[in-house]
Amino acid sequence: MTTKEAILYEKLPNDKVRCTACARYCEIGKGQIGLCAIRGNEAGKLQLFVYGKVIAGAIDPIEKKPVTHYRPGTSIYSIATTGCNWLCKYCQNYDISQRRKVEGVDMTPEEVADQALRYKADGIAYTYNQPSIFIEFARDCGVAARKKGLFNIFVSNGYDTPETVKMMGEFLDCITVDFKGSAEPQFTRLYIGVPDPKPIFDTLLEIRDKTKIHVEITDLIVPRVGDNLEYASKLCKFIYDEFGPEMPIHFLRFHPDYKMMEFESTPIKTLEKHYEVAKKEGLSYAYIGNVPGHPLEHTYCSQCNNIVVKRYGYDIQGWYMDDDNKCKFCGNKIPITGKLPKNYKQSRFQFII
Ligand code: SF4
Repeated sequence: MTTKEAILYEKLPNDKVRCTACARYCEIGKGQIGLCAIRGNEAGKLQLFVYGKVIAGAIDPIEKKPVTHYRPGTSIYSIATTGCNWLCKYCQNYDISQRRKVEGVDMTPEEVADQALRYKADGIAYTYNQPSIFIEFARDCGVAARKKGLFNIFVSNGYDTPETVKMMGEFLDCITVDFKGSAEPQFTRLYIGVPDPKPIFDTLLEIRDKTKIHVEITDLIVPRVGDNLEYASKLCKFIYDEFGPEMPIHFLRFHPDYKMMEFESTPIKTLEKHYEVAKKEGLSYAYIGNVPGHPLEHTYCSQCNNIVVKRYGYDIQGWYMDDDNKCKFCGNKIPITGKLPKNYKQSRFQFII
């Protein structure tokens, strides 16, 4: 099973189709494929070529997504297909995302959910490439997973449509929307191949207005070309105005990869400046990511500023909240869903396929 008629598309005259799974809205003629290369027009119908074709599977801590305010300490079965709707020149998963081929292991949605249970995962993440491009498969996996008591997470670039958000509402519990270079338009054009970041902002509002999905924001900070503090400030202001002070935001350190090997890793000082911008704009739960051991990995109480969740990398080393997730020092309610699992273990990594 590697191909199935897609749901998110419209028929156009002359056997053309318009894909509505992402904000590129590719118009695809008969025999042609969309930019992501895993959706294509066969005989006037849009096919999802990677339905049931899993290219990667691993058990990760949820903190690796990164998610810190939803079910901390849980284990996640992470899967992907090939293909992507973005062309990031720094992609760490380029071997998967930029592979313009249909490859992987055949797995039905039931088998994906069973595999997650076999490895004692608490949820499934659709990650490594942009999951909305294979959302019909993700949805079927997610529905099967929920029946077995698992939750579902998208690690997403947010370059979506109202149609994808509607389908997300059927099965998704949590999403990280990953801005890059704080959505500065020149950066998105030159380093991602995306003409305008506006659809990402629209997606966030659509998720807020039409679903109950838990949202966290990430922002990959790329030295010299994607570290503009003015745009970081604009992004944080948008988040504060539309979502309030409790929305978590993670500023992630860039590492050289793929076509950007000549760039250095993001200086830690640059990340700290972005953190300061978030605090100045009023966001209470800002983090620095990909810098293990940095003090801004921890969750601090927004009232008394004591550490309520102590972290090292993806591991949790201290939990200072009561049974209602109130700060043990001052009683402030911390906006974290879930408690540390009783059987919590550090360093939960395992490659499966
Ligand atoms: S999901 Fe693929 S085919 Fe559909 S609009 Fe996006 S890039 Fe084009």
